[in-house]
Amino acid sequence: MNALDPMPAASDRAAQGVAAADPASIEIAAPAPRRSRQARVAWGSHVVTVGGDAPVRVQSMTNTDTVDAIGTAIQVKELAAAGSELVRITVNTPEAAEAVPYIREQLDRMGLEVPLVGDFHYNGHRLLTDHPAMAQALSKYRINPGNVGKGDKKDRQFAMMIEAAMRHDRPVRIGVNWGSLDQELLASMMDDNARRREPWDARQVMAQALVQSALSSAAYARELGMDPDQIIISCKVSGVQDLVTVYRALARRCDHALHLGLTEAGMGTQGTVASSVALALLLQEGIGDTIRVSLTPQPGEPRTQEVVVAREILQSLGLRRFNPSVTACPGCGRTTSTTFQELAKQIDDFLRAQMPLWKRRYPGVEALKVAVMGCIVNGPGESKHADIGISLPGTGEAPAAPVFIDGVKALTLRGDSIAQEFHALVERYVERRFGAATGPGAGD
Ligand code: SF4
Repeated sequence: MNALDPMPAASDRAAQGVAAADPASIEIAAPAPRRSRQARVAWGSHVVTVGGDAPVRVQSMTNTDTVDAIGTAIQVKELAAAGSELVRITVNTPEAAEAVPYIREQLDRMGLEVPLVGDFHYNGHRLLTDHPAMAQALSKYRINPGNVGKGDKKDRQFAMMIEAAMRHDRPVRIGVNWGSLDQELLASMMDDNARRREPWDARQVMAQALVQSALSSAAYARELGMDPDQIIISCKVSGVQDLVTVYRALARRCDHALHLGLTEAGMGTQGTVASSVALALLLQEGIGDTIRVSLTPQPGEPRTQEVVVAREILQSLGLRRFNPSVTACPGCGRTTSTTFQELAKQIDDFLRAQMPLWKRRYPGVEALKVAVMGCIVNGPGESKHADIGISLPGTGEAPAAPVFIDGVKALTLRGDSIAQEFHALVERYVERRFGAATGPGAGD
């Protein structure tokens, strides 16, 4: 059809093979259900479950020197306050191991309910054996099978770590990383591959080696008596397609809870986009029980950015709800002023600032949907889909901003204090809609 030809009638479109709309043929997209075992990450009387029917958990890692117990406790607090449900710390030396119980104590004193995970490489077997107070203060151990020792030491040292986990009733993450993949295993798999009549691509061998390393280590841990529920697995790589390949294979071949993350994702936009894409592809398939976004902080950027991104990924996919959502249009030539951008930002900041209080006072408030739109084209329509929305005047439109509440135009705001008046309206809406469930005595 020429671009200038008129649109064909519906009967003509059918004749041309364009299927008529059949509502039954439209499937609503949603993440597939997850089918993993459930691990219990415990400390004191608290438990965070990972896997099974638990929500996909957000975790993060400190970048402080663990020997600096106060500095580490402060960063753990910041990460937990941003929404990290587990925080991993490096335990690399006897001095770091000595600091761990003190860090736990500081967190308990601050009333911080977050489990600490210990990250071990090379000497974890010795540290976990020689420092029982550290082993007890940690709620979970990360073991990298590529870094537990070589030759005949490998199995023995891995077994020492698993035995420490069983002694202290702690789950482990068998965390393989392609940067530290078991070189003996990789070399033997490369040799086997070279003998194939039609050798696999090197990337296939690498993926196979990663999966093999994780699964054979998990099998050995089970042989040693470890409860399979208490084994979490990860296989991190830095390429999106490689991550999808490896995790699909893992999910097919085991039912352990899976820790998901792109390793060395990079900085800023690149790291954020790569992590979001990789994790979203897998989470949509029901793969992944806990996630970490490994961002390299830009100078001056807070460590907590990785937690913010992880939460946004889960919320965007509809897997978790942490904060009210603000729908804001991107703006275009119809809105040449920055008014609506400023208002969208102010509303977003306002909602985030209110959330700590609102969460306690108004259960379910994180489901709130707010729209801030730039002009009449999509403004009223999008605002009607939100719980409460405002459609600002575009260039050349009358200086009035209709507000829609529960899909109905409720009033029109005018003048210089539109932002403040809209904040007040949102606050009243939240109080009315989510306050009723709290009952007497609720709140802070
Ligand atoms: S709602 Fe209006 S201002 Fe916003 S992107 Fe659409 S047309 Fe442009």
